[in-house]
Amino acid sequence: MTEELRDITIVGGGPTGLFGAFYAGMRGVSCRIIDSLPELGGQLTALYPEKYIFDVGGFTKILAKDLASALIEQGLQFGAEVVLDSRLEALELGEDGTLTVRTEDRAFPGRAVIVAGGKGAFIPTRLKCPGYDEFEGRGIAFGVRDKEVYRDRKVVVVGGGDTAMDFVLMLKDVAASLTLVHRRDGWRGFSASVREMEEAEARGEIEVRTFHELRSIEGNGSLERITIFDNRKGREGPDIVLEADAMLSCLGFKPDLGPIKEWGLEVKKNRIVVDQLMKTNRAGVFAAGDLVGYPGKVDLIVAGFSEVAIAVNGAVRHLDPKAPSKAGHSTHLKVFKDK
Ligand code: FAD
Repeated sequence: MTEELRDITIVGGGPTGLFGAFYAGMRGVSCRIIDSLPELGGQLTALYPEKYIFDVGGFTKILAKDLASALIEQGLQFGAEVVLDSRLEALELGEDGTLTVRTEDRAFPGRAVIVAGGKGAFIPTRLKCPGYDEFEGRGIAFGVRDKEVYRDRKVVVVGGGDTAMDFVLMLKDVAASLTLVHRRDGWRGFSASVREMEEAEARGEIEVRTFHELRSIEGNGSLERITIFDNRKGREGPDIVLEADAMLSCLGFKPDLGPIKEWGLEVKKNRIVVDQLMKTNRAGVFAAGDLVGYPGKVDLIVAGFSEVAIAVNGAVRHLDPKAPSKAGHSTHLKVFKDK
């Protein structure tokens, strides 16, 4: 099925794509945001909704889910169309210059495309351990969408990075019991979080099992227990059985652009190459946010905002080469007159 033509198609409804939709509205062009996830917000809603963000201009601190809500309100105020649960597989150039992105069964034509696909499809790193596949989604999860889900539950967190630290600190006052399992005694989380975690351990609020790995995960329909083993050669203690009805597997996400890699865009080190105007090597196709690469690139929300404003300006000029190269200051724009 082919949908109506829009001026700009934005691939990805994370912070970058949402700000792009806002900026497109400010420039008076129509746009459509398409995302493979069931809700807007990208990493903010999918990975760390309950985490505070401290480095977005104007907010001393803001919960990721609240920033996502504000971005959605701002981004959709000019009537951008939103299409969710739709993973885009292909990008095609028509004879009339139309750029059409496609899911398996739908086609979305646009006059320009901004790819804001972030880390691409989120593919969590999984463990090879008996029971792991069986209990994924039935006790084993990769993120915390609502910490209340874990209230009074026996939770095991596996991992030693920032995400593991975050979840331990978030759940320590909520869970009935909390055990952190890590295969070594070095941590990859921010030092302040590691310190907080160690203080919580010293107060007996959490149990920490370093040099331990998962041997098996068992239950009867849902998760009931996790057996871990000491991985130090020659110094192994006995296996430990942890009663658990929830496990957070925090072993990282493998960035994978997935189908975007096949769109004829120049990709280096899993990132789309762009110039200073956020142009890719394909005419009419721009990119912004976590999936672009250029010297000095930082994976920050604010970087995506700036990049996508530049990308929208480029897209507008692609639609109409006589259009002004910039929107001007919002304080002076007519579109905000009645707002
Ligand atoms: P994303 O947020 O990744 O959104 C991209 C969207 O594109 C996703 O929703 C995805 O589903 C969609 N998509 C991808 N491929 C397709 C496809 N083929 N079809 C359809 N849709 C597709 N940044 C900060 O500035 N400050 C912080 O404090 C901070 N803390 C963080 C903490 C954690 C735990 C993590 C993981 C990240 C943190 N970040 C932080 C980074 C920040 O979240 C990212 O820089 C930001 O989300 C990038 O926005 P984006 O819109 O470019 O990509």
